Amino acid sequence: MIILVLNAGSSSLKYQLFDFDEHKRDVLSKGTVERIGIPKSLITHKGKDGAEIKIEGDISGHTEALQKVFDALCDKDYGVLVSISDISAFGHRVLHGAEDFNASVVMTDKNINICKGNIELGPLHMPANIACIEACKNLMRDTPNVGVFDTAFHSSMGKTAYMYAIPYEYYEKYKVRKYGFHGTSHRYVSGEAVKYLKSKGEKYSRIITCHLGNGSSIAAVKDGKVEDTSMGLTPLEGVSMGTRSGDLDPAVIEFIMQKTGQSISEMLNVLNKKSGVLGISGVSSDFRDISTAAANGNERAELALGMFAYRVKKYIGSYIAALNGVDAIVLTGGIGENSTDMRARILGGMDGLGVEFDEKKNRECKRGAISEINGNLSKVKLLVIPTDEELVIARETYELLSQ
Ligand code: ADP
Repeated sequence: MIILVLNAGSSSLKYQLFDFDEHKRDVLSKGTVERIGIPKSLITHKGKDGAEIKIEGDISGHTEALQKVFDALCDKDYGVLVSISDISAFGHRVLHGAEDFNASVVMTDKNINICKGNIELGPLHMPANIACIEACKNLMRDTPNVGVFDTAFHSSMGKTAYMYAIPYEYYEKYKVRKYGFHGTSHRYVSGEAVKYLKSKGEKYSRIITCHLGNGSSIAAVKDGKVEDTSMGLTPLEGVSMGTRSGDLDPAVIEFIMQKTGQSISEMLNVLNKKSGVLGISGVSSDFRDISTAAANGNERAELALGMFAYRVKKYIGSYIAALNGVDAIVLTGGIGENSTDMRARILGGMDGLGVEFDEKKNRECKRGAISEINGNLSKVKLLVIPTDEELVIARETYELLSQ
């Protein structure tokens, strides 16, 4: 089955074309459209022989972006398809399923309308996700669209974990509760961890997954079900991130508003876009830049890295308590997969909890493969597992449409 996986942001569109079946999961092509609706849009496309092609020009919206992606996929020189009708299905990453979707679904008009009703729960991402699904429907009427929700894997959380301790009516009337995000990634890496641990004859029921990228979240998974996760109603809660504050005393918001005269939306913009390691370091939201600055003696950069690691460590500790122990801790995402230093800061110094971190294995950790970075006597396995959200979306799409 030829499946085009689409991950639409407000001004971007990432895509990956799969040839997928029970035994096959070949990536035929992939790319990114940037600056949609902004002058000088850019498509970076991987063509037939893997060569990268840059296509420039203005792209006004998601329908036009998708049309340009179709053209690239079918280009006679670097395309991989004869005709766009070779695509059997679209798989879409959708941010918020609220309490309406706890699994992937075919995006019928009814389901699209339900998603439209949930835009206020994800105002930055949902309009783009929906626009992309509607663009696919307009351009290829008979090809099915599957929605794979970032929140779905977390829907197994119990009420004790997902409720906020505020008046109950806000949950009943307005669906205010913790939902969690990055579910596709947590699901994938926890599943890969189970396969790995099983193959080694190890215990595998309690796993803590740490997705550490521009946005970061932690999940406590028991027997394949999420017990708790760090992000909340929106992806602002939890550990500090590239530009997001993470957990904060809510009274800080009014205090700063009174001091600075900022409105609530300006304040939320500060917490979403100007906080986290960017806000603390004043250097960048990119962990590579901050690490370089810290290595050159920048104290605020060092503080930002220390705070990030400390907060991730605290979540891990709280989830060890929630799960009554842990069999494996998994690190993934751009930071988890690539930063030797951040892995050491997070996982070092937890031997009191049976977590024995191995510096040498950490330094020798290979990119793109599962690596074990715990000492031989560690009670807890420490695994670095590359995430692959697009693969999960392709798999979900295939499985749903093959039923
Ligand atoms: P997203 O959440 O947008 O998918 P990624 O998972 O790609 O992001 O993670 C991006 C983050 O990973 C950036 O902050 C980047 O600095 C960090 N990162 C990537 N490679 C390294 C590295 N070698 N060392 C430290 N940080 C890295």
